[in-house]
Amino acid sequence: MSSVSLQKITILGSTGSIGVSTLDVIARHPDRYSVFALTGASQLEKLAQQCVQFRPRFAVVLDGVSAQKLAVLLKEQGSNTEVLWGAAALSDVSTATEVDAVMAAIVGAAGMRPTLDAARAGKRVLLANKETLVLAGALFMDAVRESGAELLPIDSEHNAIFQALPPLYRENPYAGNLQGAGIKRILLTASGGPFRLMPHEELQFVSPEQACKHPNWSMGRKISVDSASLMNKGLEVIEARWLFNAPKKEDISVIVHPQSVVHSMVEYMDGSVLAQLGNPDMRTPIAYGMAYPERVDAGVKSLDFFSVGRLDFEAPDLKRFPCLQLAFDALAAGSAAPAILNAANEVAVEGFLNKALRFTDIPVLIESVLNQCAHRATAESLSALLDADQSARIAARAWLQSHPAC
Ligand code: NDP
Ligand code: MG
Repeated sequence: MSSVSLQKITILGSTGSIGVSTLDVIARHPDRYSVFALTGASQLEKLAQQCVQFRPRFAVVLDGVSAQKLAVLLKEQGSNTEVLWGAAALSDVSTATEVDAVMAAIVGAAGMRPTLDAARAGKRVLLANKETLVLAGALFMDAVRESGAELLPIDSEHNAIFQALPPLYRENPYAGNLQGAGIKRILLTASGGPFRLMPHEELQFVSPEQACKHPNWSMGRKISVDSASLMNKGLEVIEARWLFNAPKKEDISVIVHPQSVVHSMVEYMDGSVLAQLGNPDMRTPIAYGMAYPERVDAGVKSLDFFSVGRLDFEAPDLKRFPCLQLAFDALAAGSAAPAILNAANEVAVEGFLNKALRFTDIPVLIESVLNQCAHRATAESLSALLDADQSARIAARAWLQSHPAC
């Protein structure tokens, strides 16, 4: 094995599901990785425990009150980690010269700014936060190209596609195009979520707890609801469009695959289809991104083909899961429509988790906000996109207020 230098990593969102899996991989390879900064929002005790175990130089939280609380917890436990707070601090720990790689694992549009700043600073960006690409895909990819940042997709499907693409193409997709690389299309797999087989008339009664109980993956609450509504797959189509320079409708197809063993595929012109398979465990794509182009142990069990037994594939049901169609339409409309879709979805999911909205009203709210906001928004700059995001959130909250859940 080649000798490796210690990589310093900042984890944005270390207290979340991806953050914890990333720390698990780091703990397995203390000779390869050390932690520069950890960040969290509401889970201060968990963040303090992580600081004690991984000894980062900095911990970042949202506001001064949380910073004070965290500082007290750290002092009690004899930790030397310095506490910072606010948006500027998130960007500082993502761009510091000492940092080699940034795991972008804050949930939602809140994660976009420090992720973009890490890309602008030319870091290795381990991208879990798909909302960054949905909100500002063109701008983010421009930043990656201009700075020479290394972009490694962590979302399991995109990580699988990355692995199945020709190396020259995956490292610089904008130097050419899919067809030029001999690729017919990208096949994005979807588990179908916990309600894949539920009749349409029952969907309106599902609870947040049911929606968060994913059959194959253990994830944060927002992405779990997105998986249940298939909005997650819609966001991932937009994510794939930008990551792999796949602008045409025919470039990406969605296939429901309930076992979540095939994580996605690439179909070539000669009829070959290359797939990446594995147990549904995010430590695989995380370790792949961290060690790229090498491979390291991720603590993931071998795939037991005999207990998997069979692999099924079916077409997505766009009638029962209209969020996926809304995402296709927003991508086709372009401009700020994906940013509006994303913002409206974030408000809708929060409403559903707080029992202020029925599951089946998530797409109704999003469509209403798109109709109201898309025609007057533009995507010409980051501030225009952020304006679109804000207007969509205001419109979505107004919709919620005028439609109390029955
Ligand atoms: P979680 O909800 O488990 O974690 C989110 C993290 O972000 C937590 O550390 C949370 O802090 C922090 N956070 C929440 N709100 C803010 C905010 N406003 N500002 C700063 N930090 C904040 O989410 P996941 O780990 O499941 O997902 C993270 C991202 O990765 C999402 O974009 C998701 O789509 C993507 N992803 C996740 C996958 C998964 O398997 N979980 C798979 C593929 C992609 P705290 O907990 O302290 O409040
Ligand atoms: Mg995914």
